[in-house]
Formats: sequence, structure tokens, C-alpha cells
Amino acid sequence: MYYSDESVVFLNGEWMNAKDATTSLYAQTLHYGNAVFEGIRSYATEYGFSVFKAKEHYERLMYSAEKMHIKMDYSVESLVQLTYQLLEKNNLKDAYIRPLVYLDPNMSLLPVENSNVFLSAWKWDRYLGNKLLNVMISTYQRPNPKSCHVEAKVSGHYTNSILATTEAKQKGFDEALLLDMNGFLAEGSGANFFYEKDEVLYTPALGNILPGITRATIMDLAGSMGYKVVEGRYKPEDLLTADAAFFTGTAAEVVGIATVNNASFRLNWEDSIGFQLSMAYQQLVVEKSYHNLLMI
Ligand code: PMP
Repeated sequence: MYYSDESVVFLNGEWMNAKDATTSLYAQTLHYGNAVFEGIRSYATEYGFSVFKAKEHYERLMYSAEKMHIKMDYSVESLVQLTYQLLEKNNLKDAYIRPLVYLDPNMSLLPVENSNVFLSAWKWDRYLGNKLLNVMISTYQRPNPKSCHVEAKVSGHYTNSILATTEAKQKGFDEALLLDMNGFLAEGSGANFFYEKDEVLYTPALGNILPGITRATIMDLAGSMGYKVVEGRYKPEDLLTADAAFFTGTAAEVVGIATVNNASFRLNWEDSIGFQLSMAYQQLVVEKSYHNLLMI
């Protein structure tokens, strides 16, 4: 479960028990999907715990809110501080943090004056598990970036993700890989995508995807390890000659892909760059956390 009788959440300036936190059935968010959110992880470190790239996550939340005409009365700094308090109050170290900014009752399709800030946290295992994934190319595409702000983390966009994962599961796969409206590789339902070929990494360019914070971290890590990462527009056919592939995301971390549409990759996961990066990422999230801690 996401909360117990003791769990504490933050709602509109107050700390309260999760079981007592409620909202209106007439919230615009509930009817039309306009809300913005984040998914953040904290990690136990030898110095206590620390929230990985908290600032970057809250900057993205602010960006998403602005794009969706949602007012935010909190600064990035205050949200970071509140997140540390949230974890302390819940006695959590290794945790997943879910900030949600949702709207007041309003049945119109216009911006809503008041927004609500909700922060909660719970223990959550790696979202896509620890085993290699069998992935299908989804029949659902990512939304046309001219129909919505695909680069913002908006609740309503996740109906697209839900359709894609449901289709994948129903067909016996673990996860979906979605194309953009022009048939180029885009991303997973809740994670970014990379593939390896001849010791170079390739990842779909920004424009039709969520600019993942893990994606940026992995690109930096790969660079520091001497690997080239190329952002571009790739077709599903490009995967037929690829050596390996993986997804990245805060909840999923770095997870290897065994097959796409039942075709496997040339390399064993353990021999791939993705595997090395997954190890380096696990290292970084606990190391980097120390520096984050000092900044608070
Ligand atoms: N794409 C989508 C659609 C997502 O929901 C997520 C998870 N936030 C990601 C990519 C990965 O983003 P991040 O690395 O910032 O968690």
C-alpha cells in the first residue's frame, strides 16, 4: 500500500495523516486530467539519506505547472525542504516521493484559480522490476506535441501510458515502447529509451518525449565513462541490428531490455554499456546524495 495509519502527508501547508487527507469529487483535475506531478527517489546513504536531483525534479514540476496554467505558490527550495521533512516524518530513507499539484472544484475548461500541493512518500521497489524486459512496440503512439505539452509531466498524459502498458501486458509482454506520431522511436510508458550499437549509445531526441532526469544523468555518466551518446530520430528497424537496449527512469532506474517484438539483442546484458551504466547509476545516487545533503 501507499500509506499506513501512521503515514504523514503534506497537503496545502499542513502535515496530516494520509488517511485523513481528502479532496473534492468536483476537482477539475479528476474530470479532465489537468494536474502536474513528479516522481522522485531518495536513497539511504552512509550519511543518512538524500533525495536524488531534488532540485531538477521540482524545477520540472514548476515548468509543467506553468505550461498547464497551474499556479504554484511554492519555491523549488521550499519544496526540497518539505521533501526532506516528509521523509523524516515518515522515517523513510529509501523511498519514492510523489508530489502532485491538482486543481480545485471547477467544471469549466478554463484555468482554475486555486491549486493544491500534495506530497507523499512510500517504499517502492524498482518500477519495472529487476529482470530483463520483453518489450513490444506499442500500437499507441506518444501524443502529437502540438496537441499537448508532451515534455511536461501532466497527469492526463498518462492515459496514453496506461493504454500502452495494458496492451503490452495483455499480449504477454512486460512493457511497451511507444513511437512518436511519425513512427520514430520515442519512449516507454514511464521511462526513456536507449540502445547500443558498436559501442555507441543512441537515444530519441527531445521533442516527443519527457526529458527524463535519469536520461540526462545517464548521458552524463556515459560521457564521463568515455562513451558517445547520440540523440536522434530512429526507426524500430534500427533495433534489428542493435547490440543492447535499456530504459531509464526515476522509478525504474536503469533496466535492461531482453527483446523488442520478440527479437533479442546481440550482446548479453552483462556485457553491454547499459549494464555498466546501471552499476554506475546505483553508485551515483548514493554518492551524489551526500553532496545534495550538504546543500540543504
Ligand atoms: N518518460 C515518461 C513518460 C515518464 O513518465 C518518465 C518518468 N518520470 C520518464 C520518461 C523518465 O523520467 P525521469 O528519469 O525524470 O524519471
